[in-house]
Amino acid sequence: MNVEKVKSFHITTLGCPKNIADSTHMYSSLIGEGLVEEDNPEKADFHLINTCTFIKTATEETIETILNAGKIKRKENQKLVVVGCFAERYPNEIKSDMPEVDLVFGTGKYSEAGKIIRDQFPEEFESLKEINSYLTNREIFPKNNKPYSYVKVSDGCNRGCHFCIIPNLRGNFKDSNEEQIIGDTKKAILAGSKEICIVSQDTVFYGKDTDKLKSIFNQITEIDGLEILRLLYLYPDKKTFNLLDSIIENKKIAPYFESPVQHVSEKVLKSMNRTGSYSFFKELFTKAREKENLEIRTSIILGYPGEKPEDVDLVLKFIEELKPEKLALFAFSPQEGTEAYNLKSDVSKKEAARRVNLVRETHLEVLKEIHLNRIGKIYPCIIDEIEDGKAIARRFQDAPEIDEVVFIENKDLKMGQIGKVKIVSFSEYDMDGTWIKE
Ligand code: SF4
Repeated sequence: MNVEKVKSFHITTLGCPKNIADSTHMYSSLIGEGLVEEDNPEKADFHLINTCTFIKTATEETIETILNAGKIKRKENQKLVVVGCFAERYPNEIKSDMPEVDLVFGTGKYSEAGKIIRDQFPEEFESLKEINSYLTNREIFPKNNKPYSYVKVSDGCNRGCHFCIIPNLRGNFKDSNEEQIIGDTKKAILAGSKEICIVSQDTVFYGKDTDKLKSIFNQITEIDGLEILRLLYLYPDKKTFNLLDSIIENKKIAPYFESPVQHVSEKVLKSMNRTGSYSFFKELFTKAREKENLEIRTSIILGYPGEKPEDVDLVLKFIEELKPEKLALFAFSPQEGTEAYNLKSDVSKKEAARRVNLVRETHLEVLKEIHLNRIGKIYPCIIDEIEDGKAIARRFQDAPEIDEVVFIENKDLKMGQIGKVKIVSFSEYDMDGTWIKE
């Protein structure tokens, strides 16, 4: 085979784990069209950027990444392809203001990426014909350099939260079919993943009732080689409550509960077009904690129009009472195209930032207490990375790439190894530990 004729691609993925799952589908599609992956974006014939525009800082990062990629492109004569949420939201602006971009396509077409690129640049694919028979025999899944993968169970969202741009970008909720979910999971495990993280915009909306979701989780946890199943993005409603029994019972489901409440004041929640209340969230989190050693991640938006000081007090009370181990805090930032964009706000940007800081300080105090309780405890962990002779381990209570890690001085450990770690100290978020045994 003449390697000169091989054309390569590199995918840069921005944003959340859902984008990582989408990039996996793009990867498979590009490989299916005869391209090969290139680790270095500077050397690739096609550089695809899977973008994010969830909040202002994500949009800024996306623009900066495209502009930097444009500089590489000019030097290396690449094709620059911009896809995903930012492309869905601003296709015309990209075409008119970013001449360095050769092709733009939005969400919902990740699995067709290879075909779209082939149709757009047929001359680039001419030389690939002779190697296609070789390429089609390969396993169409990215090589794993981490012991976990993301599998997406659905796309889009029907909830219509007034602050959220996602439904405009991703459309209505669509289930992936069961065969595809199980197939993606098996491929990820074959490629070396020990942990599967289920992602979507709204995991619990899957199927008509939670039985369908439970059945998928049971099938996944029976697959040989799967050690940890982690569920992400569980909207805090009755369906999630009903799912809790199987989360509690199924030993392979991680002791982790990610459920974004966004606020705890019923008045603010209603104005956000979300369901729930302080007492419901309390019941939900308390039930979730029936699973041994479970830890909770949630998120809260401060400074939403109409939020009063007493609503912030309620948030502080919630943090102190329910003690979520992980907390994402956002100052409300109006997104064009959402219902909340036109709301008259009585909370200034400065005040919203002050409220975020206040809640963060309270949470850091809670976290210090949580950390102190972890000292001396032994947790099952997975090694995510080896860096400069140090192993970076992750407790089953922590999600990859987002939660805290445990640093271990041990040169003999390997990526993907699972064993027990004793926590010996902590900094603000991360911990240090010692490896006990496999
Ligand atoms: S549940 Fe609400 S916040 Fe989450 S994606 Fe749907 S509309 Fe957005």
